[in-house]
Amino acid sequence: MQSALIYSQELSRFDFGHDHPYKPERAIKAYELCRRYGVLNYPWMEVLRPPPLDLDTLLAFHDERYLHLLKEASLGKVGAEMFSYGLGTEDNPIVPGIYEWSLMTAGGTFLGADLIARGEIDVAFNFLGGFHHARRDQAQGFCYINDVAVAAFDLLNRGIKLAFVDIDAHHCDGVQDAFYGDDRLLLISFHESGETLYPGTGKETEIGEGKGLGFTINVPLDADTDDEVYLEAFHEVVPPLLEAFRPDILIAELGADTQISDPLTHLRLTNNGYQEAVKILRTLCQRILALGGGGYDIYRTARCWTLAWSNLNHVEPEDEFAGLVGGMMFGPEQEVGSLQDRPHPTEGRAKEKALVHAKEVVAYIKKEVFPIHKIS
Ligand SMILES: [Zn+2]
Repeated sequence: MQSALIYSQELSRFDFGHDHPYKPERAIKAYELCRRYGVLNYPWMEVLRPPPLDLDTLLAFHDERYLHLLKEASLGKVGAEMFSYGLGTEDNPIVPGIYEWSLMTAGGTFLGADLIARGEIDVAFNFLGGFHHARRDQAQGFCYINDVAVAAFDLLNRGIKLAFVDIDAHHCDGVQDAFYGDDRLLLISFHESGETLYPGTGKETEIGEGKGLGFTINVPLDADTDDEVYLEAFHEVVPPLLEAFRPDILIAELGADTQISDPLTHLRLTNNGYQEAVKILRTLCQRILALGGGGYDIYRTARCWTLAWSNLNHVEPEDEFAGLVGGMMFGPEQEVGSLQDRPHPTEGRAKEKALVHAKEVVAYIKKEVFPIHKIS
């Protein structure tokens, strides 16, 4: 096996503004934690700097006028037209350098996709990837350039069969729209229900259209969903579909905003549930491009990504300072004394409600989607 962590400290220092929840510095915390726990020390691993994405690749998905305005905005110019392209909102502020930054982060995703497609590596992880809300001509939900759609179109054009599994707490509306009528990409999203969370889409009844009917699968979950409820639904839905579809490459958006302490969402997972989902994905496809997605409790996100990188590489994080007097808990793991969370199940009526809801969604998918893939 060969794997690559796609990382740049410089890109991780980029600032969306003091009050903006998206903090690229999570990637620095995760990288430091990976180093500290020795999970970057194996001979098959390399750390690669993302290159900028070239304009032609970008134009395979994005609108030229939108890119022009994003570039102008990035230079500090402001115009009324920008607002109609989603630029200059609270979620998508006009930040100096945002065009170049988005091009580099998307370049990281593209680099991982390209190396996997060419057979040079099996696994890549771009912490600063997974901008799944951006549209062809719209900035949305902290996303300016949709690196997932850009990389996926390129892989599909090379005749590669793709699955996209998104475990970020938010529904991947931008990616879904881009491939809604396409049967070359199987999209599965697990997310908090749109009734309680942005962007409001991702109902189980959204299953694709035309040739793409049955190739979009949405699993909206109740706000109080915990590890147990989540994993039960995950086991029922993901393995049968991926085993039937048999993708060449799996793009996995591993957003960590499903976690119980996330300030923007209401799911109640711990990193035990998160890791289990990553491990299941790892067994289902040999070639995986992982993307960081969201995660607004930066320490918990750093722990999730460190565990995900370990799981993708089949290695165990080892704390070489464990047991030493004055051992240095380093921040991200300080609150629990380890990388792993303690279990945190939902109880009582909230649990029952979350479970019933998840079962209904799974039953719908089994009835409407499984037959399309000849899963009995
Ligand atoms: Zn998210």
